[in-house]
Amino acid sequence: MLGDMGSSIFSPSIAPVAPTVTDPVDVLVIDDSEDDRDLYARLLKPGVQVQTVDFASDGEEGLARYHDRPTDCVLLDFNMPGDDGLAVLERLKAIDPHVAVVMMTGEGNENIAVAAMKAGAMDYVVKDRITASVLLRAIVNATEKAALVRKIAAQHEEQVNFIRILVHDVRAPLRGLTGFSDMLAEDLEAGTYEDVPDHLDMIKLSATRLNALVDTLAHYALLDGKMAHEKVDMNDVVTQALDNLRLVIDERNAQVDVAILPCVTGSGPELVQLLQNLIGNGIKYNDRVAPTITLSVKSDGDEQIFVVEDNGIGIPEAKLTAIFRPFERLWSRDVYEGTGLGLAICRKIIERHDGHIWCESEVGSGSRFCFTLPAV
Ligand code: ADP
Repeated sequence: MLGDMGSSIFSPSIAPVAPTVTDPVDVLVIDDSEDDRDLYARLLKPGVQVQTVDFASDGEEGLARYHDRPTDCVLLDFNMPGDDGLAVLERLKAIDPHVAVVMMTGEGNENIAVAAMKAGAMDYVVKDRITASVLLRAIVNATEKAALVRKIAAQHEEQVNFIRILVHDVRAPLRGLTGFSDMLAEDLEAGTYEDVPDHLDMIKLSATRLNALVDTLAHYALLDGKMAHEKVDMNDVVTQALDNLRLVIDERNAQVDVAILPCVTGSGPELVQLLQNLIGNGIKYNDRVAPTITLSVKSDGDEQIFVVEDNGIGIPEAKLTAIFRPFERLWSRDVYEGTGLGLAICRKIIERHDGHIWCESEVGSGSRFCFTLPAV
């Protein structure tokens, strides 16, 4: 049950809600006392809350085991010969900064419990007062806390990454703006005018790219707000998306075939944006004289699975997950214009609707973007 990292800080799907441990957990016990290990084995029978229990009789063995097979939770005895619990905790944290440790202390060792919590233990149990329910509560508590800390750390990392790429992507058109303005100034000063139209075009292109980035970012950030949950007719949604894409559809001589669609529960404007991005991409990343896009749907229990299929350039298998990350692009902007946020927006919209989105593709033949939405 380790894992369950969040996505970006801008994504509502990773709002800091305490996760609940629903799956049984894997536990590692590090304790030098054979009697105590026997006791834990009796108290922690594999069942609803515990999946497996592994044992190590000292810090070294425990560290090696955790290194080879990280578990959801570690019960760590404080009082061991050699490295005590605090020293082992520090070394465990070097292997996994978010390890879920329950420190097992003796009666009257409250100061040790406090030190352990300060050092990053997620909970503690006084050995002399141990019962199965006390132990299980501590394990669940520590595992939940660790999952939450992991999630927040992942959010933070993704936020830092997002900003790093954003800064890079803002800098490129800004460099274009300043560079070509300087050249324009030089042209005018030297009285040589033949490059002026080109330099003006490049200034315009840089400004357009910057504008597109800011507009798309605004869309992306706005998706963190509250979402409407209303009955939405997907036939109306696709009609609006196609109206918004009319210019590009006509320009590219594209054909968009749409099946009769059902109603779903969600936000109409967000679903328009979703289909607009997917159909728009199907036309953009398509070298055929007449790009063809089909939108179909099938029902699967409580879900509707929508499929937007194109006959475009396709996507290498190794990139099928990465393309949903912010700023992930497979082509330079000189080949295909774009901000790299379109599919990240789609993913965010679908996650807000409790659905999934994924892509299947074959390079040279086309791509199939599938997403699920709750049926009405
Ligand atoms: P962009 O603004 O670059 O279009 P997206 O987030 O919409 O950003 O898409 C990310 C990348 O995924 C694109 O740069 C492109 O390389 C690839 N991609 C998206 N849709 C398709 C598609 N239908 N066919 C081929 N490649 C696609």
